[in-house]
Amino acid sequence: MVKTYDAAVIGGGIIGMATAYYLTRHNLKVAVIERKYPGSGSTGRCIGGIRQQFSTPGSIRMMVESLKLFSEMKEELGRSVEFHQGGYLFLAHTPQMVEVFKKNIEIQKKENLNVSLLSPEEVLKVVPELNIDGLLAGAYCPEDAQAFPFAVLDGYREKIVEKGSDIFMENPVTNIQQGKNFTVTLSDGTLIEAPKVLLSAGPWTHELGKLVGLDFPMYPERHEAAITERIPKFLEPMVVDYRPDGCYFHQLITGQVIVCYTPVPTVPGIREDTTFEFLPQVAWRMKRLIPELKNAAILRNWAGSYTMTPDGNPIVDETPIKGFYVASAMCGHGFMFGPAIGKNMAGFMTEGKWTLDFSEFAMNREFKGKESMK
Ligand SMILES: Cc1cc2nc3c(=O)[nH]c(=O)nc-3n(C[C@H](O)[C@H](O)[C@H](O)COP(=O)(O)OP(=O)(O)OC[C@H]3O[C@@H](n4cnc5c(N)ncnc54)[C@H](O)[C@@H]3O)c2cc1C
Repeated sequence: MVKTYDAAVIGGGIIGMATAYYLTRHNLKVAVIERKYPGSGSTGRCIGGIRQQFSTPGSIRMMVESLKLFSEMKEELGRSVEFHQGGYLFLAHTPQMVEVFKKNIEIQKKENLNVSLLSPEEVLKVVPELNIDGLLAGAYCPEDAQAFPFAVLDGYREKIVEKGSDIFMENPVTNIQQGKNFTVTLSDGTLIEAPKVLLSAGPWTHELGKLVGLDFPMYPERHEAAITERIPKFLEPMVVDYRPDGCYFHQLITGQVIVCYTPVPTVPGIREDTTFEFLPQVAWRMKRLIPELKNAAILRNWAGSYTMTPDGNPIVDETPIKGFYVASAMCGHGFMFGPAIGKNMAGFMTEGKWTLDFSEFAMNREFKGKESMK
């Protein structure tokens, strides 16, 4: 069966769903095609952090817009997405990291971010329970935030369907052909025809790109996470410990503490299996920072992917194939980037120009440099 749309979006993670939502605001009829269900990829495995503290003007400006869009979602999507501005607190335990913070804060202040370099004593005013042994400084922005990924996806889903667009679930793309329009084949044999296609399949983007002869410089890595039982609310910001044996965690408005760390060395591949090392390690790392957490029971542990590029920035662009777009490789920041990328990508796909400067995310960039607020 052939179905015709104005645009096809491959992947129902935050990037695909946000872009599809904004495409429908431009009155396009959209097909979102999802291998399983929205959120089944990285988005449903993320810990919901939203921050503006990045090291380049492009990422900072994008995040200022994204944070604003998150803050308006309750009204726009007609449901709570558990948006809460508890801030982000980055910790520096080495003089080198203090210098990185100082340099970034200079750039961030030029973009009018309310960010400060805190002494260990000032850090204690933000998180009184923190163990400041060895701490040299903190970088803090109280307006950074958190939200609940599944609520955001569900809000977009409702609005996409309400506008008469379709979401195909449990139906992976198996082929993409180029003719006058693109023809996207789904596993049940449905053919989707559309003049525009967005490939936003998270860690699967590289493999799907090969269907049209594209070789994107991106690679997935496994990241594990865990969540504790509910405990009385004591922690406002996301705490990010940049030591090689550090971790990052925050407390949801519902009381659970949710935590991740980046393994050294990193673990390549699309891996959703968890390890025996992670649980005792993450418990030790959290307890080192907040000793009171020693009594918090961890309820669950899972794994998902960060899709990385050589410079730590995403790829968001039209590909060399006219009408074929890519928005992927969010390098661990896709949930927070989602609304702004979706809005700007939908504008670019319909009007042919960017509203924000997305040149830092261009496909033909040199991939030099590195985002230092990883
Ligand atoms: C443990 C962990 C913690 C994280 N914490 C944060 C955080 O605090 N803040 C933040 O901003 N980011 C965080 N991230 C990163 C964030 O989750 C990702 O960057 C983001 O979800 C990427 O979204 P996406 O839409 O690009 O990809 P995905 O969410 O992976 O969506 C891609 C979709 O494509 C679908 N798909 C795949 N193949 C096909 C096919 N053949 N046909 C159709 N559909 C297909 C998949 O099923 C999937 O649903 C975290 C990630 C992990 C793993």
